[in-house]
Amino acid sequence: TAKQLGKNRYHLFDVNQDDAIRSHRKQLLHIERALENDEFVMHFQPIVNMRTGSVIGLEALLRWQSPEEGLLPPGAFLPYIENNPISVNLGEWVIHAVLKQISLWQAEQATMPDMISINISALQIEQTNFADRLASLLKAYPEVDPHKIELEILETSALEDIQNVSNTMNACAQLGVKFAIDDFGTGYSSLTYLKHLPAEIIKIDQSFVRDMLIDEDDLAIVKGVIGLANAFQRGVIAEGVESAEHGKALLELGCELAQGFGIAKPMPAELVPEWIAGWKPQW
Ligand code: C2E
Ligand code: MG
Ligand code: MG
Ligand code: MG
Repeated sequence: TAKQLGKNRYHLFDVNQDDAIRSHRKQLLHIERALENDEFVMHFQPIVNMRTGSVIGLEALLRWQSPEEGLLPPGAFLPYIENNPISVNLGEWVIHAVLKQISLWQAEQATMPDMISINISALQIEQTNFADRLASLLKAYPEVDPHKIELEILETSALEDIQNVSNTMNACAQLGVKFAIDDFGTGYSSLTYLKHLPAEIIKIDQSFVRDMLIDEDDLAIVKGVIGLANAFQRGVIAEGVESAEHGKALLELGCELAQGFGIAKPMPAELVPEWIAGWKPQW
């Protein structure tokens, strides 16, 4: 009967959900263990000024060097810990790891750009003690100039309490760090964030940049974001610059700062100084 069928269906659905929850919990445990075993590493992607040809920054990007599965990008594990307190611990590990790396580069007297960007999750920046935690991490590395640090806040993450986040950002700015709004234009509150958050830089999401040469709508969005950045006196960085054509088009639109596979892919820290020394702009 229909009733029995319905019952069966419900049952099936239940079993699937159990599986999903179980596998999710397993992933959580794996990530917790990876953190304990020090299996995370930071890679770095150069950010350049396409007009002057200088390397102006590095974005620190998290990787999991899994003994079973090899090197995993954040898309393979961050979704499992979104909104879980583990992500706050991992986020703190990231800040620590980046400060340590900067300190190492400085000790080697490696050529370093002026800005190192660190991605911060919404949950992380919403912690009321975030600025205090950041201050104590910075204190552990007095040789690292906080003015070199830029924190990227994902614009797609729904910030629960924008006033609170703005206060936290101002407290962090007192320490010397700067902010960028990441993946600008992909969320639903871009303009609200632009207006209310003390961020000096906006990053044009790679989805718009990627297709700007073939899709008029994307081109219009890229132009619009550059215009907004200028109007609000914020810096603007184009993400996902995959070719010289992209670079040229962006330069013509007045966007000088860029990162993307067409310039360099994210790389392990050891390779960074050599890449910086060898880079010549191709356009
Ligand atoms: P994001 O912050 O927007 O970082 C840029 C992403 O785009 C990186 O992916 C980078 O490898 C990729 N990318 C750069 N240039 C190009 C290009 O020309 N073409 C294409 N197709 N992709 C390009 P990745 O490293 O996989 O990171 C994905 C996202 O994970 C990041 O996006 C960021 O939102 C998040 N993430 C990465 N590291 C961290 C971290 O330490 N903490 C937190 N909370 N999130 C992180
Ligand atoms: Mg980012
Ligand atoms: Mg981005
Ligand atoms: Mg992104």
